[in-house]
Amino acid sequence: MNIHEFVSNFELKNEISESMLNRTLPHAVIIEGAKGTGKRTLAGILARYAVCTSDSVRPCGLCNSCRKAIAGIHPDIFSTDGNSSGGLAISVIRQIRSDAYIKPNEAPSRVFMLLNCDKMLQPAQNAFLKVLEEPPENVMFILTVTSANMLLETVRSRSRIYSLYPAEIDEAAAYLQTLFPDKPFDEIYKAASKSGGNIGQASYLISSGGEESRQLAEKIMRSVVSGTEYDLLLLTNEITKDRIFAAAVLDNMLEISSECMRSALGLKTDSDTASEIASKMTKKRLLAITEVISKACGIAATNVNLAFFSTWLCAQLKHTNC
Ligand SMILES: [Zn+2]
Repeated sequence: MNIHEFVSNFELKNEISESMLNRTLPHAVIIEGAKGTGKRTLAGILARYAVCTSDSVRPCGLCNSCRKAIAGIHPDIFSTDGNSSGGLAISVIRQIRSDAYIKPNEAPSRVFMLLNCDKMLQPAQNAFLKVLEEPPENVMFILTVTSANMLLETVRSRSRIYSLYPAEIDEAAAYLQTLFPDKPFDEIYKAASKSGGNIGQASYLISSGGEESRQLAEKIMRSVVSGTEYDLLLLTNEITKDRIFAAAVLDNMLEISSECMRSALGLKTDSDTASEIASKMTKKRLLAITEVISKACGIAATNVNLAFFSTWLCAQLKHTNC
C-alpha cells in the first residue's frame, strides 16, 4: 500500500505525499488516532518510504528494501510495541538511543517505530527526548498513540503530529470489500456504518466479532426464557467488552426477537433458535422483550457506562416475565 491507497484522511495524505515528493518528511512523526484508524498501516508506509532505494516515487514497493520491509525483515527497521511486555521500557528506549547513532545497514535511513505509546512512562519519554534534541542523521522516528496529548509537550513539540480520523462510510465500505471479497456488500456496509468508518473495528465486526456477537445474542435470548437471573447477568456482562461489540450484540438480539415474533405469528422463519424461543413464551412477553431491546439499542448508542447498562438490561429483560 502506498500513501494514496490509504483510506480517506485526504488533507493528511496530501501533506505526506508532498513531503515524500520533496524528500522533506520530518525525522520524528507522531501518528495519533483511535484504535482501528490505521496508525500502524500509516507507520508502515512511512517506514517503507524511509528505507526505499528507488530513485523515483517512494515507497516503490518493488525494490529489495521495500520487499524486506513488507516482509518485516528489514535490518534498518526496528519496531517496539507498548502493548507487549517491556515494549517501551526505559531500557529499550536507551538501546534505541544508542542504536540511532549507528549508520544504516543498507537503507538510506534507519527507522525506529514506537507503537502504542499510550502507556509510555515519563522516564522513558524523557530518555527518548534526548535523542530528539540531538537527532542523528538519516534516522526516522515514528510513534503511534491514541492521542498525542498522552506524550510530553517536549516530545510533541519536536515531532510532526499526523492526526488520523475514521474514513467516510462509503470509502470504508469499498475498502473493506477488498479485504473481504466473499462477504455480501450489505453486511460490509452495515459494519462500516456501525463502526463510524473505523476500518479496524469494522473488520473485527465482519470477521470474528460478527459471529461472536451473534452467538452471544442467541445465548442471551435463550437465557431470558430458560436461565436464572444470575445466568443472564453473566451473559449481559459479556457485552461490556466494547461499545461496537455491545451494539452488534443488541442488533442481533433485535433480529432474533423479530424472527421470534414471525414464528409466534405462524410466519416462516429460517432461524431454529427463534422458533424454539418463540415456542416457550407468550406473544405479549415477546413484544415486551422487543421493546426492551429497541430501547437498549438507543441507550447503547450514547456514552452510557457499559457495566451499569448490562445490569439494567438484565433486569429489564427478566422483568418482562412479570
Ligand atoms: Zn522501494
